[in-house]
Amino acid sequence: MEYPDRFDVIVIGGGHAGTEAALASARMGCQTLLLTHNIETLGQMSCNPAIGGIGKSHLVKEIDALGGAMGLATDLGGIQFRVLNARKGPAVRATRAQADRVRYKAAIRSMLENQPNLTIFQQAAGDLIVDGDSVHGVVTETGIRFLSETVVLCTGTFLGGVIHIGLDRSRGGRAGDPPSNALAERLRALPFRVDRLKTGTPPRLDAKSVDFSVLEEQPGDSPTPVMSYLGSRDMHPRQVSCHIAHTNERTHEIIFANLDRSPMYSGVIEGVGPRYCPSIEDKVHRFADKASHQIFIEPEGLETHELYPNGISTSLPFDVQLEVVRSIKGLENAHITRPGYAIEYDFFDPRDLKHSLETKFIHNLFFAGQINGTTGYEEAGAQGLLAGLNAARRAKGLEAWWPRRDEAYLGVLVDDLITLGTKEPYRMFTSRAEYRLLLREDNADLRLTEAGRELGLVDDVRWTAFSVKREAIERESARLKASWVHPGTVSAAAIEEKTGKPLTREYSLLDLLKRPELGYADVAHLAGEPVNDDAVAEQVQIQAKYQGYIDRQQDEIDKLKRHEATPLPADLDYAQVEGLSHEIRQKLADARPDTLAQASRISGVTPAAVSILLIHLKKRR
Ligand code: FAD
Repeated sequence: MEYPDRFDVIVIGGGHAGTEAALASARMGCQTLLLTHNIETLGQMSCNPAIGGIGKSHLVKEIDALGGAMGLATDLGGIQFRVLNARKGPAVRATRAQADRVRYKAAIRSMLENQPNLTIFQQAAGDLIVDGDSVHGVVTETGIRFLSETVVLCTGTFLGGVIHIGLDRSRGGRAGDPPSNALAERLRALPFRVDRLKTGTPPRLDAKSVDFSVLEEQPGDSPTPVMSYLGSRDMHPRQVSCHIAHTNERTHEIIFANLDRSPMYSGVIEGVGPRYCPSIEDKVHRFADKASHQIFIEPEGLETHELYPNGISTSLPFDVQLEVVRSIKGLENAHITRPGYAIEYDFFDPRDLKHSLETKFIHNLFFAGQINGTTGYEEAGAQGLLAGLNAARRAKGLEAWWPRRDEAYLGVLVDDLITLGTKEPYRMFTSRAEYRLLLREDNADLRLTEAGRELGLVDDVRWTAFSVKREAIERESARLKASWVHPGTVSAAAIEEKTGKPLTREYSLLDLLKRPELGYADVAHLAGEPVNDDAVAEQVQIQAKYQGYIDRQQDEIDKLKRHEATPLPADLDYAQVEGLSHEIRQKLADARPDTLAQASRISGVTPAAVSILLIHLKKRR
């Protein structure tokens, strides 16, 4: 049957990408359908019950600044919050939260159910309605036809999913969920490049069987950090500790003795796994000289005894998993509640996508999340938001929007994916961003909220809160700039005592704040009232201290923008560009970058090659 209502946007898959995509599209006023296997699993964390971490919290805060759900759901579900790299510079500081799975999921579901313009429907999508080179809707497995202007595919690890536990294989999208085989076959028949990746998860443990007295306790930070710009500590549920355990030589012996029963080492799994989140068998194999690896024992929630032992993801057979777990101090009597497993799935080469995440071959069809070769909730959520907003813009007849690499980690993520593709599950790191000092987690709101407001993603509550904060930062910076400390005064003495150096001339408070020995609290009270808002004070301090570096990065960006504005024609025959090596010609022909700046980011494309391209373009004109 054909469903009577027609939608602007259909999102397939209610995971991290799909929920952000559906919410974004609906926030922008588009009639949106979220079609998912199972309403109970909306926003489910397939693996680690945690959000954020290095590089990833930057994405969460960007999603948040653009009005997304992940940051607020984390504040509502977070049971332990920490700031990682707290002693390092602000560019690499990252907030990480342990989340109560049930609370996190409930928060996401509640936001979805209360979102105007959003309809949720539970059923598997089995086919796409494609006419010529455009998509027009979706057909469910029972034959219901939903028509729409655009479709966003966010099917995660489900396409052709195969679960491995030891040498046993079964079909599944993740443990307990069916795979998406009909849709996988349909997509394989379309002209996209497809390949296989794999990822894995550890066995879960029963806390009642763990001896915590011999494990190191790791409490959260105090005062508790907050994830969303609209979040507050009052939103957090009760906070709990994690614990740290260690593998030992006996653990490693057990793993080595059973590698032939691991699907990865016996050649059963073909997909490439995440290098930065390796299985325990990978770790002991690759780092054979290491006698021990850390395991973070993380609670899965407040009303459950289940624990997530972060660091022993595995696809070894269950009997070996049990032996491995029980070889660890504190886990000698541990009961495994769910075995660990690996999953192999189809992903599509993201080089077949545009910056908007629309596919190059099928108009109005967008891909977001793990389907594009990424791993992680945050990477998925960020792509979902971008694909959802662009699907909505397409439905409204508007141009696509995406942030540049110097504006957001989301810009880095998408540009990396569509320009370079990926051979292994892609995850975000701060090292992937060239302009780390500009792209901090503390200023994602300053970078993106205004754009989000213009796009129709940011509601009045967020916009008002943001505007008040931005004005307070500007006012306070101006106040410090206009306040002077003169040598020989009481204020100067206070500064001299802190820095151990005499004040030889007059300085503004803003200039004094640039000194490494001085913080906002040391200078702000020397003239007038300091602000009573930690986020404002932090921002004033960071902007003052790093202004010199930030200005330098801005100069580089301005130079690069010229290349960004230089398009590379779609019909450019790289074989005809004189002076380029065969290898570079091949790389450019494969990637077909849209701009000179994009070409410059392809690994192996040297500055000299960029100059040659520039000369070639001038000759063509
Ligand atoms: P998912 O969260 O997988 O959501 C997909 C959604 O689509 C689901 O709701 C599903 O029901 C729905 N769906 C699928 N097909 C259809 C269909 N045909 N019709 C309707 N609905 C459909 N990430 C890490 O960062 N580190 C890890 O160590 C890690 N380990 C993992 C281990 C395992 C075993 C798994 C399964 C995942 C792991 N992940 C890990 C990945 C993390 O779960 C994903 O990156 C993230 O969930 C991707 O989000 P997504 O929205 O793309 O897909």
